[in-house]
Amino acid sequence: MTGTTTYSVIIPMYNEEAVIQETYRRLKKVMNMTGEAYELLFVNDGSRDRCADIIRECAYWDDTVRLIDFSRNFGHQIAITAGMDYAEGDAVIIIDADLQDPPELIFDMIEKWKNGYEVVYAQRIKRNGETMFKKWSASLFYRVLRASTDISIPVDTGDFRLMDRKVVNEMKRLPENNRFVRGLVSWIGFRQTAVEYERDERLAGETKYPLKRMIKLCLDGITSFSIKPLKISGYLGALLSASGFIYLFYVLYLALFTDETLRGWASIVSVMLIFNGCVLLMFGFMGEYIGRIYDEAKGRPLYIVRDVHGLNNREKPVRKRLIANE
Ligand code: UDP
Ligand code: MG
Repeated sequence: MTGTTTYSVIIPMYNEEAVIQETYRRLKKVMNMTGEAYELLFVNDGSRDRCADIIRECAYWDDTVRLIDFSRNFGHQIAITAGMDYAEGDAVIIIDADLQDPPELIFDMIEKWKNGYEVVYAQRIKRNGETMFKKWSASLFYRVLRASTDISIPVDTGDFRLMDRKVVNEMKRLPENNRFVRGLVSWIGFRQTAVEYERDERLAGETKYPLKRMIKLCLDGITSFSIKPLKISGYLGALLSASGFIYLFYVLYLALFTDETLRGWASIVSVMLIFNGCVLLMFGFMGEYIGRIYDEAKGRPLYIVRDVHGLNNREKPVRKRLIANE
């Protein structure tokens, strides 16, 4: 189904009116320099500002511009998934709208792609202009993910990457609702390599990934690729009850064979709090998995499109459901 387009650049945007014009200009410059056919595929993830209007205006006189307009905000990972569903290039590039990912790096990615790599991901060696908290939480996120999943997801790597058509076609077959795209790409395999870069400051506007969304992304990453948290509950349970028994024998020993008795309800309360906390925590882990099973069982579409621009002749992607509901 590949057409004459060599490169599809997917740009998810959520309230990015402050930067989108400049992003368009920089991307245009870079993509023109490749000398090959390309399309710029903007996905408007339910923005409440004018960014979609700005892109529509660009599309008016630039026929490389495409727009997928969501009916509401579905989230970054879903937006890039929609982009992949509609893209028709032989290589598909995903880039943030805020110019934190320098478009000029696309040249290096293309070079590696032409040398036979099917996935070229951009790995940050430095982050500029982000708060200490963001840097620290992001770093923790990648390390927790690496420790808890069974496949190797490269650290300090976001969604800024180039993927060959083969990889994108495989991506389109994956049905899950709670998506962690970079993990799925690692899972798919093929020849993968990195290009390194320094992540710049956001050009304007503020991050659309507050802590709450970071936690959701982290949980999606872990739960999609590992059941270790469930196993940990088993081990932790075993460990706690073993220590409970040992302590019980110690208390009995003191009561039966010595004159000492252990006193204090404070210690009982704290032990109870700790143990009940553990139990609830494990319920929470289980809930995360069950909630995701529930999401998949509903089998709702990943996203709803209000309208598209420049894509009218393209076949609408059909995603196979995990649980068929005929
Ligand atoms: N984004 C999106 N939908 C959302 C949140 C973010 O499409 O619900 C886009 C956003 O416009 C940007 C990219 O995802 O192009 C990355 O978001 P952001 O720059 O806010 O994340 P950060 O770089 O701070 O991690
Ligand atoms: Mg950003």
